Amino acid sequence: MDIKIIKCAPDKMKKKPSDESKLGFGKIFTDHMFTVNYEEGRGWHDPVIGPYNPIVLDPTSMNLHYGQQIFEGLKAYRGKDGGIYLFRPEENIRRMNASAVRLCMATIDPELFMDAMKKLVLLEQDWIPRGAGTSLYIRPTMIATESALGVHPSNRYLFFIIVGPVGAYYPEGFSPTKIYVSEEYVRAVRGGVGNCKNAGNYAASLYASEKAKAMGYTQVLWLDAIERKYVEEVGTSNAFFVIGDELLTPPLSGSILPGITRDSIIRLARSWGVKVTERAPSMDEIISGIADGSVREAFASGTAAIVSPIGQIYYQGREHFINGGKTGKLTERLYNEILQIQYGEKPDPFGWRMKISG
Ligand SMILES: *Cc1c(COP(=O)(O)O)cnc(C)c1O
Repeated sequence: MDIKIIKCAPDKMKKKPSDESKLGFGKIFTDHMFTVNYEEGRGWHDPVIGPYNPIVLDPTSMNLHYGQQIFEGLKAYRGKDGGIYLFRPEENIRRMNASAVRLCMATIDPELFMDAMKKLVLLEQDWIPRGAGTSLYIRPTMIATESALGVHPSNRYLFFIIVGPVGAYYPEGFSPTKIYVSEEYVRAVRGGVGNCKNAGNYAASLYASEKAKAMGYTQVLWLDAIERKYVEEVGTSNAFFVIGDELLTPPLSGSILPGITRDSIIRLARSWGVKVTERAPSMDEIISGIADGSVREAFASGTAAIVSPIGQIYYQGREHFINGGKTGKLTERLYNEILQIQYGEKPDPFGWRMKISG
């Protein structure tokens, strides 16, 4: 399918941000967006890259009522060599379609998805910031657009991609986070949609996150919904612990989002000879391990920060410090290695990088 390109009028183009240290995350978007519509019986049709514009929806548009909404998140990186890189984008496409299947939404042709993403990034390449750790965030999204009330799968969908420059996650070096273990509220239960990037999961997480923030914590550590005993995720990131000489992360049991960073960390660590085990540690194991020193490092993983070291855990009224509240060695090594692969500064033994220009 050919993507039609309608350029934004020059006088409507936005002013590009001049100070890369103030980009932050998710506040600035570029001049263009990709859209394609789906209709039952007709399939996906009329793919367009056109001016970034509001979306007009009927008040009965099904996404506004029943939550058929899925998204992805990845980044385009500008290397020192001037090249523009994506990191494992085919994995995001695969995961988006897995989310679509689970939410009874239309799947999208992976080739069209990839083509749209590349063309949009290349059209907006002047927006890709140059500073260390900065990037162009890519947000593919799909929403149900049938105008009707009544719970059933929509017969129409809109798929769109927007992109925007984002700042470095650690402009002043690592700052280990303080994590609050939520015992009262859960994020997702096995058999539900916790393994999909579905909007409802994030709405469901807000109450506990706000509570954690009010108490001075950055993120919530989610426990399994059934026994409320085993570690699942940290905020919107996957959880990792270094216990003894082992790197531990909860298995993809169905309630955990299969992070692409998570998978990259597992493979990278294994290639270094680190023993990686997919097993969910219990909070008892974590707390006693912190006390006896066997829990040596903890971090969260995701596209936004790559790794986010955990320095402190609040559980059952007490504060527990991991590695003296400092970033661990393996955590830092994983961060540096993935960052350098993403920016084209290191060999790419796994073929994760996709150079789209330069
Ligand atoms: C997106 C996300 C992650 C991380 O996935 P990446 O592919 O590594 O960015 C982890 N947990 C949740 C709940 C997420 O939404």
